[in-house]
Amino acid sequence: MRISLPPLPYAQDALAPVISARTIGLHYGKHHRTYVDNLNRLIAGSDLEDKTLEEIVRATAGNAARTEIFNNAGQVWNHNLYWRSLRPGGGGAPKGELADRIAAAFGDYKAFKLQFGKAAQSQFGSGWAWLVADGDDLKIVKTANAASPPASAQRALFAVDVWEHAYYLDYENRRAEHVDAVLDRLIDWGFATENFANRKHVAAHAAPN
Ligand code: MN
Repeated sequence: MRISLPPLPYAQDALAPVISARTIGLHYGKHHRTYVDNLNRLIAGSDLEDKTLEEIVRATAGNAARTEIFNNAGQVWNHNLYWRSLRPGGGGAPKGELADRIAAAFGDYKAFKLQFGKAAQSQFGSGWAWLVADGDDLKIVKTANAASPPASAQRALFAVDVWEHAYYLDYENRRAEHVDAVLDRLIDWGFATENFANRKHVAAHAAPN
């Protein structure tokens, strides 16, 4: 199937000033779109042509001969989840069952934010920071480059992109400050809660293809 670029769930200026319209124009309009275009070019006429995005990620993970396909497929999947992880007026401490789970796993919101920030900051070079459900356990994980949760049994609740293209125009080299602002002002806890509720269905991940 042809892999499509999902529409942004909000206007390009909706996440400003944390993520400016200019950053979204480049990040969604150029980077994300290019991963989609590359992927479609790479799978055309191959055995992957009729697979879903998640099937492509799983089929190519760890296959040295298919690294380029994996990198583009992983980045499409990760960005699909990333844009849905954010919303205008989001962020801050979560509520409900997920709040209790986070408190049990990490302590209060401040402690959670500190641990998430450390993971994001310590990812050397390009990558991602995630809140995931590993079975019933909540974990903060970081991954390099295009590494993508569908290649593991973990269920992603939300993602923060820590590639420089995600923050450099707005925060220059201040990655930690950017991640703090995303956590405090943009995370869509409703989306995270939905993913947590569906954690048993790892194969039917909530991110669109
Ligand atoms: Mn990105």
